[in-house]
Amino acid sequence: MTRSFPKQAFRFAPSSNGFLHLGHACSAALNFELAQASGGRMLLRIEDIDLERCRPEFEQAIYDDLGWLGLAWEEPVRRQSRHFPDYAATLERLRAQGLAYPCFCSRGEIMAAVAGRPDWPRDPDGSPLYPGLCKHLSPMERTRRLASGRAAALRLDMKAALAHLARQGGPELDWLEQGVGGTRRVRATPALWGDPVIARRDIKTSYHIAVVTDDAAQGVTDVVRGADLFMATHLHRLLQALLDLPEPVYRHHALLCDASGQKLSKSLRAKSLRAWRQEGLSPEAARRRLSVEVMVPP
Ligand code: GLU
Repeated sequence: MTRSFPKQAFRFAPSSNGFLHLGHACSAALNFELAQASGGRMLLRIEDIDLERCRPEFEQAIYDDLGWLGLAWEEPVRRQSRHFPDYAATLERLRAQGLAYPCFCSRGEIMAAVAGRPDWPRDPDGSPLYPGLCKHLSPMERTRRLASGRAAALRLDMKAALAHLARQGGPELDWLEQGVGGTRRVRATPALWGDPVIARRDIKTSYHIAVVTDDAAQGVTDVVRGADLFMATHLHRLLQALLDLPEPVYRHHALLCDASGQKLSKSLRAKSLRAWRQEGLSPEAARRRLSVEVMVPP
């Protein structure tokens, strides 16, 4: 009898807040090639929870540019802006387990609380770890502030979350990494993030919550993304364990850099795929240029 294995599922998950640059194209092409090589699924997800910065014309440009490159993906495309209720449900599960608390602090208040403390620990993105100002508010004070209409973010209570996992006595938290640095298991140390924001004041969810919710909902088995998101995986693994979600395999690939060694980014106005197209480059030439950067294992 032949055993059948579920298909692998890969995804490319760009934010529609600007035009794709060559680094995005590389990441998309790598996902596409890996999906093809394994006979797996290729999914596209538009990460547009930031309704202020994401725009329909950028979303359309993503479809056009990836299509021009010759990539294909399953329809329908999942658009995060359609799934706020799913993210609210995920957050509610954490809240109901007593693992999250509302935080009323502005960035300025946090900076003021750690001012003059140069040794204050910072998270992997360089922001000071949350100094806990709202963590010990009395339930009455929390209710009063919420009732008065004050906007609140939601933070994960890291200590409570780790204690919760320890009580469950599951295996050590880690993940299988296949990217830069070779294949290995990486031990997850989510405490590096302190008490991270899991729902922003303005957006009511966060990248972290949306990504773990969606990867599970879409049956993603292989998360292939830039090395700039490697550290976020420490937190994603914790959220997956708390929420009882499946564990994907991760491959964090090297980032493309410009001539000065800086990683390509939308904010630094990296040359867009669109600009390449307008300069008359053919899709075949673009794919060839990208394949120099894209390493597909045998
Ligand atoms: N939306 C993220 C970005 O454009 C990628 C998220 C992910 O791959 O997990 O950088």
